Amino acid sequence: MTDMARSYWRDMSLSTRIVLVMLILLLVVQAAGGAVVRAAVEQLVRQGVRTELEVGERVWQRLLDLRAQRLQEASVVLAADFGFRSAIASGDQGTIASALDNSSARIGATLAVMLSPDFTQSTVSEGAPPVPHEVFQHLGTQLARVPQGGRLARIGPQPYQFVMVPVKAPVLIGWVLMGFPLDQRLAEDFVRLSNVHIAIVSEQSDQTLVPVVSTLPRVQQAALVDVVRQRLSSVTLGEDIFAVRQGAMGATDGAMRAIFLRSISEASGPYRQLQLHLILITLGGLLLFAVGSHLASRRVTRPLKELTEVTGVLEQGRFDIAVQGTQRHDEVGQLARGFDRMRTSLAQQHEQILKLAYWDRLTGLPNREQFRDRLVAALDQAGQGPLVVLTLNLDRFKHVNEVLGYAFGDELLKVVAARLQQHVGTAADLVARVGGDEFVILLTQADAQAALAVADRITRGFEHPLALGEQTVDLSASIGAACWPGDGDDADTLMSRSEVAMHAAKARTTGVVLYAPALDSSSAQTLSLLSDLRHALAHEELRLYLQPKLHTASGQISAAEALVRWQHPERGLVPPMAFIPFAEQTGFVRQLTLWVFEEVARQWSSLQSAEAGLRVAINLSTRDLLDLDFPQKLSAIMARHGVQAEAFCLEITESAIMDDPQRAENTLNRLAELGFKLSIDDFGTGYSSLAYLKRLPVSELKIDKSFVMGMADDDSDAKIVRSTIDLAHNLGLSVVAEGVETEAILQRLRDWRCDEAQGYLVSKPMPAADFIAWRQRWQRR
Ligand code: C2E
Ligand code: CA
Ligand code: CA
Repeated sequence: MTDMARSYWRDMSLSTRIVLVMLILLLVVQAAGGAVVRAAVEQLVRQGVRTELEVGERVWQRLLDLRAQRLQEASVVLAADFGFRSAIASGDQGTIASALDNSSARIGATLAVMLSPDFTQSTVSEGAPPVPHEVFQHLGTQLARVPQGGRLARIGPQPYQFVMVPVKAPVLIGWVLMGFPLDQRLAEDFVRLSNVHIAIVSEQSDQTLVPVVSTLPRVQQAALVDVVRQRLSSVTLGEDIFAVRQGAMGATDGAMRAIFLRSISEASGPYRQLQLHLILITLGGLLLFAVGSHLASRRVTRPLKELTEVTGVLEQGRFDIAVQGTQRHDEVGQLARGFDRMRTSLAQQHEQILKLAYWDRLTGLPNREQFRDRLVAALDQAGQGPLVVLTLNLDRFKHVNEVLGYAFGDELLKVVAARLQQHVGTAADLVARVGGDEFVILLTQADAQAALAVADRITRGFEHPLALGEQTVDLSASIGAACWPGDGDDADTLMSRSEVAMHAAKARTTGVVLYAPALDSSSAQTLSLLSDLRHALAHEELRLYLQPKLHTASGQISAAEALVRWQHPERGLVPPMAFIPFAEQTGFVRQLTLWVFEEVARQWSSLQSAEAGLRVAINLSTRDLLDLDFPQKLSAIMARHGVQAEAFCLEITESAIMDDPQRAENTLNRLAELGFKLSIDDFGTGYSSLAYLKRLPVSELKIDKSFVMGMADDDSDAKIVRSTIDLAHNLGLSVVAEGVETEAILQRLRDWRCDEAQGYLVSKPMPAADFIAWRQRWQRR
């Protein structure tokens, strides 16, 4: 096969190939059959022709013999005729000639001659052709030597068959010579009898060969000479091939040959008809085969094509397509059923993969990817109205996990997931879990107002403690909301801003916060807020507030926490959570800390009472701990106001330490060396371990208010608080509980030997100026 043929073959459809192969095979079989038949026919024809030629020759011979016999009988009768003999004796030429005429006419001989015994005289029948006497004389001499039968001889070129009989009375008185010409008529009679052509070629005295009689057309006769010369067994004459048989004809004067010719095409005529029929049958067979094999192959290739179409659909990720042909009982049916099984299995796997890629395994909720996709889709249909992205983060979940176990935490997350789903409104709304204890909610057709309403429902839902097995857990969540349009144009922005708002909610412990550019350190509004803060510091808009700490054993106010407020000329008293997180992000918090520290140092001596000293706690931020000069700055301030480090407690959150533990540890060591008391603030909300904290020069733990407040109706919170107190004491640390709002909680803390309590039960934070009077009233009580 050439390359081109091979590539044609490759590009052909299966059905075409099957049809082609079938046709080629059929052709091969037919060709082989045809060849065998042809060979057999040829063989038959040759054999038939040979037989025909043999028969022909025998017929020819018989023809000559019959004629010779007739000549012989007529001659004998004439020679015995009395009148004839009398005429010879009397030399009556007229009677002789008429007797010769009568005899020859009776048998149809052309020539009858009466010769004298020595052949010198001749009398010729009247109808005879004019022949010189010498010819008869010569003939007679020669024939006399042959006693019996007819002989062949020529007169001129014309061959004749002669018989010569003596006339006796009783001595020889003459010869009767009779002859038939071997002429065209005879030859044609012969052809009619035998179907075999005949030609007689005679050799002249000069050795040339001349066809004298022939049933072939004149133009073909020249070739006969070659046939004789070369003793050919076949010859092509015109468009026909002839088989040849040569027979010698004994002549008295030189060679003559009878050549028998049989046309092969004529002989194979009947067989050619047969071959034509065979060819017609072959063509019909080819047509039938083509149609039949096409139909048969279609039975196979049509389903294949349909299956191929199915693969195309599967490729597009659609698995709901019906596979044709599964009810068939043949191999195609088997294939189709196999295909269908593959389709179902693929569909299941696809579903599984989608589940893994788009669903949260624990809660069965959509995951972040799916949420984002759905949000993008919702934004695409922007005409449908406003929407909101809520981000919800569980408070203190990390701690629940650590104390109550991860399996419990997982169960808790599932319950929370189920609860959240109850709070979303329409089917277009969506709850997804995007992190350990973080969920996002898409609210469609909702504005800020609606978002606050949903968030409020969720928060109130959390007010009922969750019961899980024997445990009840009091959970709360911080929720941030970002609205479209307004807070962002695309899904990513909305999600990240909603998260920013959530972090703000967490820091403020206010439950829900709507996104505002001020929450975002990168926004333009932030820059103006920063200049506002600078202005506040320079223009004495900041206020120092104090919140007392109660010594539980003695009931004395032993300490207070300094908390900052911003007296804004327009916005009024701004709570610290509205600007502290921002101040931390921008680094401005360092000036703020120094301001508070200086303010406390300045007022410290006036805060002391005669009966007992007052230690004031000050909140530090990450930035302070990272500032290498920070201890020195504090020293300078203390020197300026003449106060000792022992007068202060420095509160540091776990997260502030964990931001850069190495540097924080350095700073803390130096602060401790200076004589400051150090306290871990918001204990329980961060990620550090108690064992690690023990390494630090810390002497106090402040249990986060969320646990303390949760103790009221949550067993696990109570457990956490109690075990923290015990652990801290074991490590030699004192413990402060913040967020004490009820007498009952205070009583339990007292029972558990918690060292100090801070909270609204004792007092809310108050302006430093009010604090002295308040403390006097408390002490007197
Ligand atoms: P914090 O250090 O944990 O301060 C305690 C917060 O809990 C105070 O809120 C206080 O008013 C509140 N609190 C005390 N007892 C109770 C109670 O019984 N119930 C409830 N619900 N709350 C109680 P505040 O003053 O709004 O301060 C919030 C946060 O702002 C502080 O949390 C602290 O992280 C930060 N902050 C306040 N002042 C300063 C400051 O001068 N410097 C720094 N770096 N941060 C400050
Ligand atoms: Ca604090
Ligand atoms: Ca705190």
